[in-house]
Amino acid sequence: LNRRLAEFGTTIFAEMSALAVRTGSINLGQGFPDTDGPEEVREAAVRALRDGRGNQYPPGPGIPELRAAVTAHQQRWYGLTYDPDTEVLVTAGATEAIAASLLALLEPGDEVIALEPYYDSYAACIAMAGGTRVPVTLRPSPEEACYRLDLDELRDAVTDRTRLILLNTPHNPTGTVLSRAELAAIAELACERDLLVVTDEVYEHLVFEGEHVPMASFPGMRERTVSIGSAGKTFSFTGWKVGWVTGSPELVGAVRSAKQFLTYVSAGPFQYAVAEALALPDDYFHGLREDLRRKRDILADGLAEAGFRVFRPSGTYFITTDITALGEQDGLAFCLGLPERCGVVAVPNAVFYDDKTAGRNLVRFAFCKKDEVLRAAATRLKQLS
Ligand code: PMP
Ligand code: GLN
Repeated sequence: LNRRLAEFGTTIFAEMSALAVRTGSINLGQGFPDTDGPEEVREAAVRALRDGRGNQYPPGPGIPELRAAVTAHQQRWYGLTYDPDTEVLVTAGATEAIAASLLALLEPGDEVIALEPYYDSYAACIAMAGGTRVPVTLRPSPEEACYRLDLDELRDAVTDRTRLILLNTPHNPTGTVLSRAELAAIAELACERDLLVVTDEVYEHLVFEGEHVPMASFPGMRERTVSIGSAGKTFSFTGWKVGWVTGSPELVGAVRSAKQFLTYVSAGPFQYAVAEALALPDDYFHGLREDLRRKRDILADGLAEAGFRVFRPSGTYFITTDITALGEQDGLAFCLGLPERCGVVAVPNAVFYDDKTAGRNLVRFAFCKKDEVLRAAATRLKQLS
């Protein structure tokens, strides 16, 4: 492994899912639903396969049906207008969208501001692109029992070498949903300092409190923002690896140049199915959100009863907890011992921080699981205290 990647090793998600399989534990580590997305969408994929649609290389930017569906989605939910021919790119999941965006937009030595704790691929992709990451840390707000961004800290992090802000709202792993006011301030800063924003909005439909406001909707931002979505999260098909990017022709064109040499194109038949999924009625999206809200409540209550300090997430499908109240300090050791102690797998938040001592006492649990699985996990976790 070269020097750029040496510090990254195996992703925590693969490691923890392997641990869950090895020990037969309930896996609340890696964030993937244990129930697949809508039957009719699966049928659409089967139909595409059977009818020979997408079985050979699809068009580089994505099939026209899916690009049109992505633009219709941005219009329906956010009133944002994009040209499907020049302002949309289909990617192999949001993961490729993040990688291709950073590889396309960064020069070696450019600084990238990312909200810490951050999703693990951000640091690795910034490194692969030769950039330098500059974390701005979200901190617990005592009154609200959630994590918040300090806008002054963000402003202070901008230097002459800052090229872009890599945002993520709703935020994994804290469940923070940036408010309209916070986003407006970030937008102003980006315009003032002439920064690009790459915004990972894969949990856009999983907001339980507040609202999801896309960064691209603020004045001056449409032309400097690359927005990222994912069918994995929105339709519960994480195995399909279909994501998308929207933005100006210049930015999307740049990301497309990088994508060409990463995967060339994305898998065909799933694109037809996701095009249909994006056109599902509002009820589907609301139902998904309400389902996950109920699941959040089941797990958050269970964790609180088991003695964890719970930061109740406003979005995503993750709950960050503090294990200090259980007399524990080391999240990594706690997560490694948890399968044996009570048959549950979780993820130590320390992996999402540059300063590994920063998130040492924090542990993340995923709640995108069947209600009975969440209840069983809560019962097991109560044996800890
Ligand atoms: N961004 C965030 C914040 C995520 O949590 C994930 C993982 N699920 C991804 C990107 C990757 O999404 P995909 O599975 O579409 O590649
Ligand atoms: N995004 C998911 C999580 O945060 C996992 C995705 C992955 O394993 N790369 O758990």
